[in-house]
Amino acid sequence: MPTNDNSVSEMKRLWERILERIRLKLQEDVVFDNFFSDAYLESINNNEMLVVANSRTAIQLMETSYKSLIAEAIKEISQTEFKVKYITEEDLKNQRSQKGETKKGTYFEKAVINPDLTFDNFVVGPFNREASQAAVLVATKPGKMYNPLFIYSGSGLGKTHLLNAIGNYISKNTYGTQRVLYIAANDFVDEYLRYLKADPESESLKDFFNSVDVLLFDDVQFLVDKTKTEEMFFYIYSAMIAAGKQVVITSDKQPNELKGLDERLVTRFSQGLVVSIKDPERETCIQILRQKIEANGLSIDMFDENVLIFIADHFSSNVRELEGALNRLIFYAVNFQKTDRITLDVAAEALQSLTGGKSINSIINEQKIIDTVADYYHLTPSQLTGTNRTGQVALARHVAMYLIRQLLQDVSLKKIGDMFGGKDHTTVINGVQRVDSELKTNIQLKEAIDELTKRIKG
Ligand code: ADP
Ligand code: MG
Repeated sequence: MPTNDNSVSEMKRLWERILERIRLKLQEDVVFDNFFSDAYLESINNNEMLVVANSRTAIQLMETSYKSLIAEAIKEISQTEFKVKYITEEDLKNQRSQKGETKKGTYFEKAVINPDLTFDNFVVGPFNREASQAAVLVATKPGKMYNPLFIYSGSGLGKTHLLNAIGNYISKNTYGTQRVLYIAANDFVDEYLRYLKADPESESLKDFFNSVDVLLFDDVQFLVDKTKTEEMFFYIYSAMIAAGKQVVITSDKQPNELKGLDERLVTRFSQGLVVSIKDPERETCIQILRQKIEANGLSIDMFDENVLIFIADHFSSNVRELEGALNRLIFYAVNFQKTDRITLDVAAEALQSLTGGKSINSIINEQKIIDTVADYYHLTPSQLTGTNRTGQVALARHVAMYLIRQLLQDVSLKKIGDMFGGKDHTTVINGVQRVDSELKTNIQLKEAIDELTKRIKG
């Protein structure tokens, strides 16, 4: 007889009849009244009855002196030889709460906040300022400022970092009194499906989320087209927001571009604050690189300045790749070059396969052009980009500007001006035009340009 709801009353009736039989058999009312009268049948499982008795002493009596009497009564009434197990009410309660605990504990066991991802080591620049500020506000006043906070961006731009930073901040500042849960959407899907069979209404999952104070939900786009899971998430999400608990969500797209996601979720996501992280600009990339170099326990002085520019220019669309390139370079320099100075050549060599398999020499950037031209005219790069206007230096400078325009597609006049000590764009145009017109008559200059082009292109 399984112990589902339907059989509860049946079980009760059965037990009442058994008790009555025991009372008749005992013929000692005082014993019956003290030890048996309030015993009840908790469950029947695999031919085993679980009976709750009012004390340990009662159990002892039932298991010894009255064992056979009880067994007979049961057999007579139920026509079955049930085994009987006894427990006190108190022990039963303890067992239950322990079970409840372990059940809860089994959800999202692997979900931990990464202590290494904090606000302290998150570099802020124009591209991520809005998202970063919103994250800080939410972390300092969970549930009070923006709910939900929704952060979206392309991959590798710091969403997961920010979520963990929020989690670390809240945990630390509330001394662990707030239960903060960081989970990725696909882990939520897995976890939901894992328990669906055993708990079709997901009651214990809902219970679990009742005990969560802050939900940091990463990569919500993975819920798209998973209707059942979305429904469960909607339930949990709505309950948390209604209870004033902070929810932070990240995604690779803004809410209304999450095609296939439940409309109700899209609408609700937009009710808090929606912020994006854009592509990082070169300056911030360089700052991130500096921070990562220091975090690696290395000195920034090991690196030629143009190495950082080189990495920033090649990997700026993704901070993860930027970081990957730097790690690879450090690994390469330490293991293969055994050098304490990381030059552009070393960097280009180390990152060759990451920069599209091009050979070192074929990677052209402004810095390479400046270095090559300076070298050709026996100048230092800083003389070339400086303010000295004597004949040869000015010529070399114009040649460099000209080659940057010729060999690189997307470098604006303003950017070139900046490289040459903040000259304005008309100065750059003049320099380039000067070379252009000279070239028509000046064979020596033409030869110089050809030679330089050859060297730059490798
Ligand atoms: P996303 O979740 O958007 O794909 P992540 O948060 O995983 O990106 O970031 C990728 C890597 O780049 C991580 O190692 C992260 O620590 C680092 N990162 C991203 N943005 C920054 C930043 N502004 N400052 C420092 N590190 C960052
Ligand atoms: Mg991420």
